[in-house]
Formats: sequence, structure tokens, C-alpha cells
Amino acid sequence: MSEASKPKNFIREIIDADLESGRHTTIVTRFPPEPNGYLHIGHAKSICLNHGLARDYKGRFHLRFDDTNPAKESTEYVESIQADLRWLGADWGENLFFASNYFEQLFEWAQHLIREGHAFVCDLSAEQMREYRGTLTEPGRPSPYRERSVDENLDLFRRMRAGEFATGAKVLRAKIDMGHPNLNMRDPILYRITHAHHHRTGDQWCIYPTYDFTHGQSDAIEGITHSICTLEFEDHRPLYNWFLEHLPTPSKPRQIEFARLNMTHTLTSKRKLLQLVEEGHVSGWDDPRMPTISGIRRRGYTPESIHEFCDRVGVARRNNTIDLALLEFCLRQDLEERSLRRMVVLDPLKVVITNLPEDAEEWYEGPNHPANEAMGSRKVALTREIYIDRDDFMEDPPRKFFRLGPGREVRLRYACYITCTEVIKDEAGNITELRAEMDPESRGGSTPDGRKVKGTIHWVSAQINVPIEARLYENLFLKEDPEDVEGDGSYLENLNPDSLQVVAAFGEPSLRETDFSLPVQFERKGYFALDPDSDSEQLVFNRSVSLKDSWSKKAGK
Ligand code: ATP
Ligand code: MG
Repeated sequence: MSEASKPKNFIREIIDADLESGRHTTIVTRFPPEPNGYLHIGHAKSICLNHGLARDYKGRFHLRFDDTNPAKESTEYVESIQADLRWLGADWGENLFFASNYFEQLFEWAQHLIREGHAFVCDLSAEQMREYRGTLTEPGRPSPYRERSVDENLDLFRRMRAGEFATGAKVLRAKIDMGHPNLNMRDPILYRITHAHHHRTGDQWCIYPTYDFTHGQSDAIEGITHSICTLEFEDHRPLYNWFLEHLPTPSKPRQIEFARLNMTHTLTSKRKLLQLVEEGHVSGWDDPRMPTISGIRRRGYTPESIHEFCDRVGVARRNNTIDLALLEFCLRQDLEERSLRRMVVLDPLKVVITNLPEDAEEWYEGPNHPANEAMGSRKVALTREIYIDRDDFMEDPPRKFFRLGPGREVRLRYACYITCTEVIKDEAGNITELRAEMDPESRGGSTPDGRKVKGTIHWVSAQINVPIEARLYENLFLKEDPEDVEGDGSYLENLNPDSLQVVAAFGEPSLRETDFSLPVQFERKGYFALDPDSDSEQLVFNRSVSLKDSWSKKAGK
């Protein structure tokens, strides 16, 4: 999508107004992942949005790790997240931050709230706290520890930090309003005791600030102007603002919520994706069936196709579910223009061309792209024995089938015409081989008499080829909504048992010297990306997407 045609969204309208009124002269956005898993396609939407705004408004984009929960976080995730952002082209330049860098400042601000009478140390257990909290229809009750003196609170809080108390024994809470209609405002927790090793601060801390107490203040420290997050944080906004009002922060960022990306047949919860990995339902975070950025990268998705997808999805304030077919459409559209063409037979059926000698070896030239001569060409070898795809032959073809059948003539792409003369079967009646005759006059793909054939099929020499492994993927979940289960069933029931099919296939000889930096179109079969499992012996390919476009049809284009 071109810049000019990018629709104005409500966030851009807010920013335009802020720039016009002089409230801001430059804008600063951030992407704030918690390093507790790999990023998925939903995060890509947030990255494209935040990075795209900073780029378009010539502002700044920060990458900030929201690393306040040591138990679930690790440097493996910190590194994978950075690799994913780089791949997407979301450049944070110098602006790499960690919330853990602000622990000292946050501790300072917590003491400030205590001194102002806005925070207290509470000894209620988690269960008691739930009871005291009330419900949406009933107000909460104040904690019996709510009226501790400032001095006692300061002393207890410092001793919490010093490690005098066990994990979970006490918390620091804001003193706001136990009758507040918004549950987030009923004396929310600011700090918990967790005796755990942190991947950056080591054993320096045994108290950790909560998400709510960390996020807005980190935004304020970094001078973030527009703190964009998903709708589930809407109810946290009053608290976000309450901290900014009650603390001497260097700036006052504004939280803006937008609808998260949901997609059919797809899970976008790190916790559930972790479960798929840990229980071995997939081969890892980067399994090409995973909606993780590393998974779709391995599958063959391009950054360009992801950006196009995010542009088309747009930014809204209402939750909806995007059709997975749109993501596939964006990739197909990108690759259609840019990818090289090659012939590969995925389900081989041997054809013997009886009027070619045993040692025949004829080389034909095929363009690398049918519509772009500048992309050059490659040579394909025709020999007496070739493979065609089994579904390009029918013994008793229906009227609209224009491919090979007994007595029928087709064009072998780039090479010549052949007519099927004999069908050979095994004892069980399965077709094991075909015999055919080539019209010698048709070499090069047409005949002097201008005779037309209705079908052109792809093929590979059975003697000069590159054996490959092809991994064919279907949706990981059978149902559009993976969570659609009866009773207390699990989304795991909806896993598609046939989401991966591995086939031994044959490719044309030029596969040995093809540039696979982009997926390649295996003609008539789909786009395929070289998998890192490949070695000098065996090339392995992932089907990135088939050629069949279900999106345009559905969208009526
Ligand atoms: P979890 O799924 O484990 O609850 P999360 O996906 O919210 O966590 P974070 O690391 O906190 O994980 O997310 C970083 C940023 O990405 C947040 O600003 C969050 O709002 C945004 N984000 C997460 N999921 C989506 C989504 N599906 N669509 C758009 N943005 C998302
Ligand atoms: Mg989150």
C-alpha cells in the first residue's frame, strides 16, 4: 500500500492534533514486550504501528523490555525478540531499554507515594486480598493494614527490599479507593516479594514492581508521547494516569488503546504457544506452522508481506477477527512479482517417452519469471524418463480435465508435446507408469501446423534432477476459532493432525544453483522456502503458501 493511500486512523488523528496544538513537537512511541516468549503475528501489528508512526512523523521509536517478572523471563527471549524486530525492519537505533534499568527510580517513587500517604505495606494473603477486593457489583473492604503510619510503611518496605521476608509474605499497595467502580483502582499492588534470579539484575532485587506500577512510569522516564497498547488495558488507564498525577515524573505520556489482532485458525497467546512448544505439538517456537514471527519467517513470509498485511488490517478500536487468508494473500501477492519459477514434482508418476533414446538429453530454456525478462532464465533437462505429478493424469478424465489421459496430448512446459500411449498398472490395479510419445516437431513448445493443446503440465527428468524433501503445511487448527470447544475442553482438541505432510519430491537440476533468499514458485504448486534443515546432501523446502487464492474470492475482488 502506498503512503498516500494509507488510511488515516484515529491514532494518527490524535497525533496530528497534539502536534497542531503544540502539546508535542515530536512524537515518541515504543514497543514494550515482556521477554517471556517469542513474538507472534499480533505483536507484528503493534510493532508496525508503533514503528510506522515514529517513522512517518520523523519521531523516535523505542524498544523496551518489560522485564519485571523474573520467573518467566530469559535472555533467549530478549534475543529472539530483537532478531524479530530487526527482520521486520523496526529499527530502534540507540533506543534499547529495559524496565529493570528503572528499578531504583521506581523504588524511589514507591517511597514517595508512601511518604505522601498514598501507599502502604499489606500483609493480607493473596486469597484474603481477593475476598477484600469486592466484585463488579459490590465495593471492596479496606485492608486492616491500610492505616499503618508512614514511618512503619517506609521501614517495612525497606526491609522487604533487604530480603527480610519470604516470597509472597507482604506487598506494597497504593491507597486509592476500595469503593471505586473500577477494580484496578481498589488499592492495587505496586510491589511483590519474589526471591528469584533476574536475567539482568541477578540477585540484586527480591521485590519486583507490577506491570501497572512499571509501565506508565517507564513511558514517562523515556519521554514516550503516545503509549499505544491493546484494548484490555483500557480499564488500567485510570490507574496509569493516577500514577502520573501522584508522582514527579519528567513527562506525562498518554495511553491510547487499539484492538488487538485476532486471526482465524490462529492462537495469539504466548502462554498457549509455549504450551504447544513444551508439549511437542510443534517442533519449536520457529515451527513453520506457528504464528510466531520466527515461525512465519521460516515458513517463507517476507517482511514486506507482513507490513502489507498490517496496513490492510488497519487500526481500530473494535475487536474483530481477521481471516488468515488475508495474510496468505499478502504473501502470494509479494512473491508473485518477485520469486523465481522452478519445476518440482511433488507426487511423482513416471512417464517413459518411448520414441526418445535411452541416452537422450535435451536442454530447454525456461524464463525465471513469465512476466519479467530481466530475471533471466534457466535450463531444464528432458530425458527418456520423466516424472509428472500424479494428479496431472486421469485414466478416465471428466470433460473439464485438460491434462494427460490415455490418447491425450499435452505440452510439457518449455519442452514439447507428448501423447499418452499406454497405462501400466501393478497387480492391485494402481497406475505405476505411463508410456508416451513425443512429437519431434513440437520441440520448443509448438508445432509447425499450429496445433493447440489444451493442457501444459510441469515435469522433471527422472534421470537428471535434484531429490528434495517438501514439507506441506495446512492450518495448525481445524476450527476457525481454536478455542471453540465443548465444556471445559482444551484448544488442543482442535489441533489439525494433518497440519504437516512430508513428501519426497524431485526438482529440476537448476535447484542446485538457485538463489533461495526469497521463496521460489514451484510452478503450479505454490511458493516454497528453503528450510535451514537443508544440507549439501538434502534440500528441504517449506511450502510457504499455495497458489490458490481464497481471499480475493471471499472479498469479492
Ligand atoms: P500474553 O499474550 O502473554 O498475555 P502479550 O502478548 O500482551 O502477552 P507483551 O509482551 O506484553 O505480550 O506484548 C507486547 C506488546 O504487544 C503490548 O503492547 C501488547 O499490547 C501488544 N500485543 C500483544 N498481543 C497483541 C495482538 N494480538 N495484537 C496487537 N498487539 C498485541
Ligand atoms: Mg502483555
